[in-house]
Amino acid sequence: MSTPKEDNTYDIIIVGGGPIGIACALEAKKKGLNYVILEKGTLVNSLYNYPSNMTFFSTSEKLELDEIPFISTNPKPHKQEALEYYRRIVTSNHLKIHLFEKVEKVESAGDHLHQVTTTKSTYTSKNVIIATGFYDIPNYLNVPGEDLPKVAHYYGDPHFYAIQKTIVVGASNSAVDAALEIYRKGGDVTMIVRGPAIGERVKYWVKPDIDNRIDEGSIKAVFNAEIKEIRENDVVITSKEGDQVLENDWVLLLTGYRPNFEFLKRMGIKLSDDGRKIPEYDPETMESNVAGLYLAGVICGGVETHKWFIENSRVHAKMIVEDIVHKVKS
Ligand SMILES: Cc1cc2nc3c(=O)[nH]c(=O)nc-3n(C[C@H](O)[C@H](O)[C@H](O)COP(=O)(O)OP(=O)(O)OC[C@H]3O[C@@H](n4cnc5c(N)ncnc54)[C@H](O)[C@@H]3O)c2cc1C
Repeated sequence: MSTPKEDNTYDIIIVGGGPIGIACALEAKKKGLNYVILEKGTLVNSLYNYPSNMTFFSTSEKLELDEIPFISTNPKPHKQEALEYYRRIVTSNHLKIHLFEKVEKVESAGDHLHQVTTTKSTYTSKNVIIATGFYDIPNYLNVPGEDLPKVAHYYGDPHFYAIQKTIVVGASNSAVDAALEIYRKGGDVTMIVRGPAIGERVKYWVKPDIDNRIDEGSIKAVFNAEIKEIRENDVVITSKEGDQVLENDWVLLLTGYRPNFEFLKRMGIKLSDDGRKIPEYDPETMESNVAGLYLAGVICGGVETHKWFIENSRVHAKMIVEDIVHKVKS
């Protein structure tokens, strides 16, 4: 394997140490390229910040990287098992990763080189893979009171909400999982749902559970409704019936997350202007409209964050590294 030069020049710089960034590093290592992963948080930072009781919808083999077996005794692995798996991949393969080092900008350094500036250093490379995911920026509702301490855009553990009145906004998997868990730990849950029903993409084995809990009234749900204002002791919601004030202790706004589009735009990556903000890339190589800048993983979907996930985007690693190797040889 070629070794990094003292001036921090690499064959490949990978931005983001999530599952897909790790897949890219494994592939680069196999091809004898010198690479480094730059990760702003802990290892697999997004997964680490998922709800504590989170279970994947994929079976473990679908989450495997480079066919390294992911052994789980559960039909669908739990968060802790996934953390264990990805951590062991990094440590056993001695993958080169700098943690708690945020990439602030990627810009042209001339001569087909990119300069990557982080909170700690600068690096150069002809090839930069952006695998920064989507979990850092919530879709804000932009309503008064959203910044109160009782409001959270991330859900952690149900125990916190026991014997408390909690409003859960959203109707997708995250919102449904939180509502069910909190209800089962003795919380008083009301779901506020913008549409007429629970989302169609909710896991098929969870959907009957939430529908039945709502039908029997164990979990309250107000459909075709939106939050108008969040206040210290209550929340104002609005629906066809007009405004309604609900007594409330905690609000969980689980309305999804979005990639850092500004970060992409600053490095010159074009986004589709149809509202979906899909970054421009060649689907054969994953190279963006900026030569030498590649996109990998969930970030490729723009605002459609359900489109790419570990299962179907782990292949990006091979596609990208093959293209880079091809360029190096030609
Ligand atoms: C609750 C939940 C359940 C899910 N279940 C499944 C499932 O069962 N199966 C499945 O296939 N997928 C599942 N997904 C989706 C899956 O977790 C994501 O698709 C996956 O994490 C994508 O991997 P990634 O490497 O592209 O992005 P991420 O895992 O988000 O990794 C991106 C990394 O980039 C880092 N980063 C961001 N910006 C910077 C920066 N400027 N500098 C340095 N580092 C940066 C972040 O800290 C993060 O560690 C689930 C998602 C959620 C939220």
